[in-house]
Amino acid sequence: MIHTEKQHPKFERTLIIIKPDGIQRGLIGEITKRYERTGLKLIAMKMMLPTSDLVEKHYTIDPEWKRLVGEKTIKSAQAKGHAPIHEDPAIAGDMILDILKKYLTSGPVVAMVWQGMHAVEIVRKITGSTEPLSSGVGTIRGDFVIDSYKTSNDDGRAVRNLVHASSSVKDAEDEINHWFKQEEVFKYALVQEKILYDVNLDGIME
Ligand code: ADP
Ligand code: MG
Repeated sequence: MIHTEKQHPKFERTLIIIKPDGIQRGLIGEITKRYERTGLKLIAMKMMLPTSDLVEKHYTIDPEWKRLVGEKTIKSAQAKGHAPIHEDPAIAGDMILDILKKYLTSGPVVAMVWQGMHAVEIVRKITGSTEPLSSGVGTIRGDFVIDSYKTSNDDGRAVRNLVHASSSVKDAEDEINHWFKQEEVFKYALVQEKILYDVNLDGIME
């Protein structure tokens, strides 16, 4: 299939938030570098102190999120043989949202929008899975932080995993509109897109 210019996958976008621990650990540059060097294009970036309300809306944009995060947590706890934060996924989800509000309002964060082909999946792959203890080697969460569900739950706090990354194209669009005004998101050409997306590579040789 030949893509029309408007629906080309190079327009896919995703939201990243470097969470307060990422800022405090001095990892803004390292984290941003990992996304930047893929070829994705940074189209918005700002530092801000989120409010509790902003965080709550962010995590409830997807009405299924609370149940899903609860189920994921219970499954992981069962596999590792320790007690989950709560046996009921919906209540576990509510509890996680509460501790997340504390986590994300504890200090400034850096919010970014990245655009490019498969942006959502590429960014999730580089970010790594939710729990740093089991995130893959080479991912941001696998390489730069040491938290686990068990210790965070024993301490009654959120899992500290440095970044948020949108988990679907639909969520990404909703989250970008939630964190950014339209005029804060830039439309511009990046020279390397010529190589990333050009079909014939016929503009190189003189
Ligand atoms: P991800 O950020 O990988 O998309 P989720 O959307 O499932 O993960 O959860 C959002 C955030 O909530 C996680 O990044 C993590 O900071 C926190 N979190 C998730 N599950 C738990 C848990 N069981 N206990 C404490 N914090 C959690
Ligand atoms: Mg998520």
